[in-house]
Amino acid sequence: MKIVVLKFGGTSVGTIEKIKKVAEIIANYKRKKYKVIVVSSAMSGVTNELIKKSSKISDNFSNSEHDVLVSSGEQIACSLIAGRLVHKGYKSRSWLSWQIPILTVGAHRNSRINQINSNKIKKYLKQGGVPIITGFQGVNNENRITTIGRGGSDATAIMVAKFFKAKRCVIYTDVQGVYTTDPNKLKKAKKIKVISYEEMLEMASLGAKVMQPVSIQDARLNRIDIEVKSSFVKKTGTLITKRSNIVNNKIITGISSTQNDSKVSLIGVKDKPGVAASIFKPLSKNLINVDMVVQNISANGKETDLTFTIKSDDLNKTKKIIQENRTIKYRKLIFEKDVSKISAIGVGMITTPGVTFRMFQTLADKKINIKVISTSEIKISVLIDKKDTNKALAALHKEFKLDY
Ligand code: ASP
Ligand code: MG
Repeated sequence: MKIVVLKFGGTSVGTIEKIKKVAEIIANYKRKKYKVIVVSSAMSGVTNELIKKSSKISDNFSNSEHDVLVSSGEQIACSLIAGRLVHKGYKSRSWLSWQIPILTVGAHRNSRINQINSNKIKKYLKQGGVPIITGFQGVNNENRITTIGRGGSDATAIMVAKFFKAKRCVIYTDVQGVYTTDPNKLKKAKKIKVISYEEMLEMASLGAKVMQPVSIQDARLNRIDIEVKSSFVKKTGTLITKRSNIVNNKIITGISSTQNDSKVSLIGVKDKPGVAASIFKPLSKNLINVDMVVQNISANGKETDLTFTIKSDDLNKTKKIIQENRTIKYRKLIFEKDVSKISAIGVGMITTPGVTFRMFQTLADKKINIKVISTSEIKISVLIDKKDTNKALAALHKEFKLDY
């Protein structure tokens, strides 16, 4: 069976007109003799509206009822899509997660799909039907409705592709694909034709809008090719696949930047075992996500400086936690708001020497000061002043031949 999974995001099914368009896209795959499985999200805005309603009922709305409520948006979208396909003369119906079933484990609001029963859907496909499956929702072993986290329809689609052994999962969304950098920040940004799972994961700051990072990881583990494309513009999108499928002459695949980061430095920290742990323990306990961490080599063996970055939303909380932390001693505490992390990402750098140097030189030529540096196998990140973000993106985009 030539199975393809098509996933439609909230904006793709945002209005009745758009749903009619989606039905047309599905029909096109049918004409090409594919067995099509559709996964849909709720119409855009609906999930948020439902959450608002729950908070008006109670500021402590029951988690299990929350899942029943917020997953209902998907039911509406799926029945509208199926209804339109039937109107066009196709055999189609909606499938709610419990009707398949899609089984989940874990707590309400944040469950995880661990099993999808394929029998009924396979039979339906053989009869020529187009199943329209609700994303985002599942059912647990107590037969209660669950949801799998905001933006979870992506994860549903990838798991459906896995359990039905689909070769490809197409994510239809409101952008045309993944870009070499944020097109809103740099006009010269280009759509990337092919990108590896690993690069895509590193580009989360660009990719988050395109796809949920956890589902990219699921796709990687199960070797499912993902195509991200627009449901409004008829153009090829971006293929996310395994490295060995990619022939690429570019060293760098994309350049990403973060927004709303802050830098925290502790100057003159006692250099002894356990210091870093005692700084970060209360932060992790308070669910503060620490990103770049740098500890300077201690010149005299007694004191060291420690710098890390966090999201600016967490700045006040972090300040308080550090100031109240009696287990650490330091001479000075410095906070800096409005910094941005710029990352050059590309598997090409594994085999190409000199990329780090080129990145630093390019920024130096533009008189952009680097505050913190961190690297991984396929990524180099620098922390700079937020006001220099667009300038840095443009310079690096050019240096690594992404402008054309
Ligand atoms: N409708 C859900 C949400 O808004 C799931 C999704 O969009 O993927 O989070
Ligand atoms: Mg969504």
